[in-house]
Amino acid sequence: MKPTVRAPALRGSRHLLAAAVCLCLWSCAVNPVTHEREFVLMDEAQEVRLGEQAYPVYTQQSEGLFPDPDLQSYVDRVGQKLAGLSHRPSLAYAFNVVNDSETNAYALPGGKISITRGLLVRMENEAQLASVLGHEIGHVTARHAAAGYTRQVLAGLATAVGAAAIQVSGVRGGEWLLQGGALAANLVLMKYSRDQERQADQLGMLYMTRAGYNPDGMVQTMEILQAASSREPSAIEAMFQSHPLTSERVATARALAARQAPELRTAQRLRAAPFRQATARLRAVQPAYAEMDRGLKALADDRADEAARLMAEATRRAPDQALIWAMRALAESRAGRSGAALEAAERSAKLDPGLYRARLTAGVLAFKADRYRESLEHLDAADKLVPGQPTVTFYRGRDHEALGRRDEAARAYAAVLKKVREGEMAAYCYKRLVAWGYIKPAR
Ligand SMILES: [Zn+2]
Repeated sequence: MKPTVRAPALRGSRHLLAAAVCLCLWSCAVNPVTHEREFVLMDEAQEVRLGEQAYPVYTQQSEGLFPDPDLQSYVDRVGQKLAGLSHRPSLAYAFNVVNDSETNAYALPGGKISITRGLLVRMENEAQLASVLGHEIGHVTARHAAAGYTRQVLAGLATAVGAAAIQVSGVRGGEWLLQGGALAANLVLMKYSRDQERQADQLGMLYMTRAGYNPDGMVQTMEILQAASSREPSAIEAMFQSHPLTSERVATARALAARQAPELRTAQRLRAAPFRQATARLRAVQPAYAEMDRGLKALADDRADEAARLMAEATRRAPDQALIWAMRALAESRAGRSGAALEAAERSAKLDPGLYRARLTAGVLAFKADRYRESLEHLDAADKLVPGQPTVTFYRGRDHEALGRRDEAARAYAAVLKKVREGEMAAYCYKRLVAWGYIKPAR
């Protein structure tokens, strides 16, 4: 039995779209006032633009790309194959593996999709990977984020965020992040409804079977996640928050898989061998990341010495992983060893100059070691990777101040105060700007 083109899922997504359009018309009809007219359903161009702007930032927030170009292109190839067979084949899809230890996968509007190292390392074959990517593509093709956004706006929940969305349309870089970031955060962290999850599962299975994968891969993925969840609930939390996995979902997937053509349900079509080959490096360094995660836990519990010891062990096991060196720098710094901390941070930035965390850590630690020019170099790089973050701007100001460049420092401090109003950082900026006569003290 070949997958039919007019699958129920396709009709479902049309219904959803129709419903969303109705909501919008209803909203415009009720409130045809100028600023109300701005709260329209996100159109495709806006969706694409938002995804494109948020993708690099989200990738950095998820600890950057896992450093294995071959694996990155493998995952992208699998994703593109599915996307090309989806209901919105002409979107500019992108797929990457982010270096987050959490088990998760997410889709930004417009087809920008990420899967974490933490999820990928639990998988055994390409059909399982295809099921996750297909599910995320399903959220994109059915425009769940756009529908959720419209719903939130209409419910009055997203007024502030809605305003940010409008700014996004005329955006260029910097100022966007904090506000637009909140919007994007909303879209990504949005909890999908049960209906949307069901629909994404249906779409995912449709796409993966069209691509010739064994549909049992989807059932296997769900079983892996369920098993992991009963062993260590917190590890799967992020995934389950955005994509609640109910026993009904698993049963439905199982029934759906059973209805697919028998020639699809072969071991061959799970494609285990190419997957194992593509993920060999990932699995080889995973023990080091597990050690790093234990270190982070120790750090969170204020056991800095133990954290530093665990991080040192992790870097010994996988000395080429930039993220682990950055985390070691954090631990060494908290343990009061600033020399070792800076050294680890420099090593991290050298291994992966495109890793925001590495640049930020090296920049701050270099400032604290009075190495202002090196610090500026790292922080400028960090600012290019994720524009306009107050901490980065603040330390750039401190570097400029230390180098005697008062105007540049003042500009940075003023930029910080535009985004942060409270806390030590803001207090410092305010005090300096007053002392230098750039602003008058408030009475
Ligand atoms: Zn989902």
